[in-house]
Amino acid sequence: MTKNELQFLSNIADVLTKEVGTSELANDIKAKFDNKSLKELNLYVYDSVTNTIRDSINGWAIIENSPEIYEAYKNIQGHDFVINQKAYKLPSVIGDITFKIDSIFMPIVKEEKVFGLINLVFESGTSVNMEFLFLMKIFSSQVSLKLQNIVLTEQSKINVEFHDSMKNIAKIIETQYELNYIVPIIGEMLDRFITDHLIYVFLKQGEEFQLVWPKACKDERVYEALSQLTPETEYILSNNDKIGAFPLISEDGEISGCIVARSTLDALSKRDISYLEQLTRQSAITINRANSYSKILQYATIDALTNLNNRRQFELRLGQEIATTRRQNNPLCAMMIDIDFFKRVNDTYGHASGDAVLRGVAGIIKSALRESDIPSRYGGEEFAVLLPYTHIEEAKIVGERLRKAVETNPIPINVEEAGVSSINVTISMGLAEFNNQETGEELFERADKALYDAKTSGRNRVCIN
Ligand code: GH3
Ligand code: MG
Ligand code: MG
Repeated sequence: MTKNELQFLSNIADVLTKEVGTSELANDIKAKFDNKSLKELNLYVYDSVTNTIRDSINGWAIIENSPEIYEAYKNIQGHDFVINQKAYKLPSVIGDITFKIDSIFMPIVKEEKVFGLINLVFESGTSVNMEFLFLMKIFSSQVSLKLQNIVLTEQSKINVEFHDSMKNIAKIIETQYELNYIVPIIGEMLDRFITDHLIYVFLKQGEEFQLVWPKACKDERVYEALSQLTPETEYILSNNDKIGAFPLISEDGEISGCIVARSTLDALSKRDISYLEQLTRQSAITINRANSYSKILQYATIDALTNLNNRRQFELRLGQEIATTRRQNNPLCAMMIDIDFFKRVNDTYGHASGDAVLRGVAGIIKSALRESDIPSRYGGEEFAVLLPYTHIEEAKIVGERLRKAVETNPIPINVEEAGVSSINVTISMGLAEFNNQETGEELFERADKALYDAKTSGRNRVCIN
């Protein structure tokens, strides 16, 4: 081997030890071919699940409309090169031959099995000799090892993400039981994990499937798949395998909903199907638990997450307070609170952190109020407070104090979960004073209007109706 060749191999070895993805790797390798007129370097990997070849440099896209690549993959088995559509093995072709080549394929091998191709494209009519081919044989085995590692890393990254998704879906339920809150979160989690597919979540209402995530589904074939489901169905695939419907089965063995994946690119692979089956099963468990939990809580008065009155108890107390106020002609104020940009908290720090913030804000609300005030979790990240014996001027002072307290008190969250140990949020607030002609519902509608004003005029403020 000449000094130049050794230098080349050692340069390549240097490149291969770097922690890079395939596209940087290809660029770095290309740069080492400085004295050959190399135009392109491609790294193709065979995907046994979909039975296709993927372009590892371009986002692992499936290669279509390139029969010569599939042909080369077939012909290279048991050989060292495919040059101008012909397969060769070293050293049986040894001799003082010079090849004129445009393109060379070399196998990427693992335990003697070909799992991909290195493809070099030269300027048309470039001549290479035997020594160059020997050099390339060593080069291709060096690159093989590196690619094996990259493929393994890709795979294990997916596995880690998968287990995270499973864990997150399982975790939602700890304090949550409102389906219209948890189902969209499950939808979002699935969507984030299964990136090349559109995910739809349906819940069954009577005989009908109702789309609960995302907002719309216009694909007729999705509904067609739904119509074919029976409780015995494991899953249904459409004709072209691009749509998969995975039923959510309730505790008593009925279909309670369905998760549908619609591929935007390839057919669903065996791997996708296996992931979706497991994620659907976990989602069904979570949803079933939420359902039973909500039945138990139907008679409870306290919101499990924040320890404030729940919505049901709020309605009850509102009725009582309005009756008393009417009778005794006392003042009464209504306060509606909504956390500002709360979706961002969930999106940035995760839903568990979002929950911690809800608990934190609820704590601040409670401590800023009087004993006789009645704070409740109205829904999601909204709170409603009844202030008996309070005129609007006083309510304004209480509200300002509360707004300020939330603004200035960082809320502690789990640093391992979120990457930070506390978050600052702000709230917007709407106030209204009871006028004796209206119902409790109308009173809170007016407070809600004021809240809307607070939002549209810049948030982190108190507005009065
Ligand atoms: P705005 O300032 O306009 O109120 O913005 P926002 O992001 O707070 O408003 P939006 O109503 O769009 O988002 C509210 C979010 O609150 C969406 C929902 O995922 C989240 N949420 C509702 N309930 C809960 C809950 O119990 N826990 C958590 N973590 N998030 C919740
Ligand atoms: Mg809101
Ligand atoms: Mg909000």
